[in-house]
Amino acid sequence: MLKLTILYDNEAEPGFKGSWGFSALLETEKDSLLFDTGWDGGLLLKHMEKLGISPLSFKKLVLSHQHWDHVGGLPDLLRVNPNLTVYLPESFSKNMKVEIQKRAKLVEISRPCKILPGIYSSGELGTKIKEQSLFLNSGKGIYVLTGCAHPGLSAILDAAKNFGKVRGLIGGLHSSTEFEKLKGLKLVAAGHCSTHKAEIQKRFPSSFLNIGAGLQIELE
Ligand SMILES: [Zn+2]
Ligand SMILES: [Zn+2]
Repeated sequence: MLKLTILYDNEAEPGFKGSWGFSALLETEKDSLLFDTGWDGGLLLKHMEKLGISPLSFKKLVLSHQHWDHVGGLPDLLRVNPNLTVYLPESFSKNMKVEIQKRAKLVEISRPCKILPGIYSSGELGTKIKEQSLFLNSGKGIYVLTGCAHPGLSAILDAAKNFGKVRGLIGGLHSSTEFEKLKGLKLVAAGHCSTHKAEIQKRFPSSFLNIGAGLQIELE
């Protein structure tokens, strides 16, 4: 089982609030982890409460990159969960690492590595804006979970191929126009900062899924 809950996104399901940023909870049969925190920690915790998710129910937090809309909710989250291990790209600022270390266990990521059984970090990718994505093995293939996809779709999908055949993609795609890279995927859930959602939906109507805060999906 691989269940994904969108907790924070620019768009939202009825009853939830859209706000610039991204956060998603991943649940397997035995464990769970949080990916990014959105911008407003209060809103993140509110959405969790609405879905019946305790902020103490996960012990691992993966931060994709050091942009405000992905790490802004961190202080609020660390206040309510003092037992977190935070996995972040090595390139995060030294001062931020020092602050996080005062309140959580810190793991710096440079190379690809396992975070949970079936869930892997891409390692730190990109040159200008460095970022890590997650690769999720559903048993049938790999789902790629991105923050903003700043390193580019090619770089991220090439890294994912080392873990198996890529089946789907979820998250922010920024201004990427590498549409041909999405060909053949079973799921293209472009959200958050993706500027070409309409074009992606037009090109891949059967695999496109519009995501928003409050949406829960099972990845098969
Ligand atoms: Zn972003
Ligand atoms: Zn970003």
